[in-house]
Amino acid sequence: MLNVSVNCLDRQVHICPERVALIWERDERGSEVRYTYRQLLEMTCRVGNLLKRHGVRKGDCVTIYMPTCPLAVASMLACARIGAAHNVVFAGFSADALAERIRDAQSSIVITMNQGVRGGKVTELKKTVDTAVQSCPTVRHVVLEASLDDLVSLRQLYHERGMKYLSVDQICVFGTDLTLQEMLKEDVVCEPAAMNSEDVLFLLYTSGSTGKPKGLVHTQAGYLLYAALTQRYVFSYHDGDVFGCVADIGWITGHSYIVYGPLANGATTVLFESTPVYPDPGRYWETVERLKINQFYGAPTAIRLLLKYGDQWVNKYDRSSLKTLGSVGEPINTEAWEWYHRVVGEGRCPVVDTWWQTETGGICIAPKPSEPDEEIVPGMAMRPFFGIKPVLMDTEGKVLTANNTSGALCIAQPWPGMARTIHNNHERFIETYCQPYPGYFFTGDGAYRSPKGYYQITGRLDDVINVSGHRIGTAEIEDVVCPAVAESAVIGYSHDIKGQGIYAFVVLKKNMKIKEEDLYKQLNSVVSEKIAKYACPDFILLVKRLPKTRSGKIMRRVLRKVVESDLDSLGDLSTLDDPAAVQEIIEGHAKISMNNCLKSQINTFL
Ligand code: AMP
Repeated sequence: MLNVSVNCLDRQVHICPERVALIWERDERGSEVRYTYRQLLEMTCRVGNLLKRHGVRKGDCVTIYMPTCPLAVASMLACARIGAAHNVVFAGFSADALAERIRDAQSSIVITMNQGVRGGKVTELKKTVDTAVQSCPTVRHVVLEASLDDLVSLRQLYHERGMKYLSVDQICVFGTDLTLQEMLKEDVVCEPAAMNSEDVLFLLYTSGSTGKPKGLVHTQAGYLLYAALTQRYVFSYHDGDVFGCVADIGWITGHSYIVYGPLANGATTVLFESTPVYPDPGRYWETVERLKINQFYGAPTAIRLLLKYGDQWVNKYDRSSLKTLGSVGEPINTEAWEWYHRVVGEGRCPVVDTWWQTETGGICIAPKPSEPDEEIVPGMAMRPFFGIKPVLMDTEGKVLTANNTSGALCIAQPWPGMARTIHNNHERFIETYCQPYPGYFFTGDGAYRSPKGYYQITGRLDDVINVSGHRIGTAEIEDVVCPAVAESAVIGYSHDIKGQGIYAFVVLKKNMKIKEEDLYKQLNSVVSEKIAKYACPDFILLVKRLPKTRSGKIMRRVLRKVVESDLDSLGDLSTLDDPAAVQEIIEGHAKISMNNCLKSQINTFL
């Protein structure tokens, strides 16, 4: 029996209650707020008591729709404390996407805040929750934190006076829902629930190759152990280090490397609320200097973007505290890797390209741990972590034993951090991960094993796109686009900042007359309303028909080749129902302006 919140908090409070657990690096530069382990434990207990008082019981599921902030961490840990599962939904998801996740998780409580602020822009989180819960009959309470209206006006005032901002819970206002202001009336002691190691700790929804996202289930002991071990050994974390993972708490990276791994190790962990370019492209490195970050863990998308702004934004700031640089979420190209290593890390910090996924719970392949003088090859995830047995499979499902070969990446034995099931759909879990290569866990990724036995991830083998490290299923986009058009096919294409961009081919409904410009606007607004902004296509090509086989299957391979300008490898088109469709697509694609691409690059972080 164990309790994850006790492992992350009480244990540290016994040793060193005044050690800083969280540094909340808020959107406005220089406005950070620190929380000690004692304060975080108290906040967690108060939220735990509040949840219990409002009927949350062991085994229930609480949805958390919040930006990266201390209260989100306390809410996650409060669930763990009372034995409830949490379901954190990335605060960029739309009301529909949120509602779908609340319903599937059968949550009775949603915790949110009035507004979030990122990159100087306010998002109306509470309004989104209000819309979402209208279609969620299970929701009894929305727990509301703070009003950022006040914060935004205070922000200006404090800025003018050169003062630091107050922490959010000092300026809470009451709303009509249950407010977390009430939390302050709760006791700072909350009896931890005794949990079995295989009880559910959390659900986290991620995209698969169907239109319906899947709620992956992680359990207690194995997950915590794996997050803690990988955080310690992959990043060479030592006691007293400041660990700076700049992901959002709404993704698995935030769960494992902002919250559970670092806190289980007693680290000081940074909650980064802003963007890499707010207020300017020096933001990350100024934060590193000010907070004296020792391990910096970020996404290749951001590195590629910052590289374009030039070295001066990095060199302006003292980065001597840095010891390890990490990369996560998508392949990092050699140019970005080299720049990260040479410019950001001044050639002295190892760069660890970490491969893993929501399903794996923690890092599975990374250059470290290794012997101190073992090589690290740019752009390669390289070595399996303790207990991970990667294997490559050929198309017939046979294990490829030789080096210098590529195949489908599977893992040959279970490991502590692996997801145990898909919430309410164990069959889908088995079908997706266990059946494609019986006896092995199929990751959905392809990989190359070098002559020396190092692994390099080559990308998804299924219909999942990775946009700036965020997964989205092509079917998910097609499903929401379809009511507006007769037919669509969505593919990913190589994008020099986001890793992959989204390209949608659409066929209009018969007799439908609409200006192209209006159609693009309409489709973009449908996608951001139904899913999230990051899922909006970068390119939309209006075509008369899609290339299909005679049995009606859309030939995405052909679409990908056209977009990659690889017309020589289009293959045999004679099996297509209407080979002329391809010519129309080639011509249409040629006309698409690259300016759109630039616009979407800029939008990535705004
Ligand atoms: P998610 O579950 O949202 O974290 O996405 C996991 C997917 O991101 C993996 O299946 C890979 O396709 C991709 N990914 C994550 N880390 C890496 C990496 N270091 N190199 C290449 N692809 C990665």
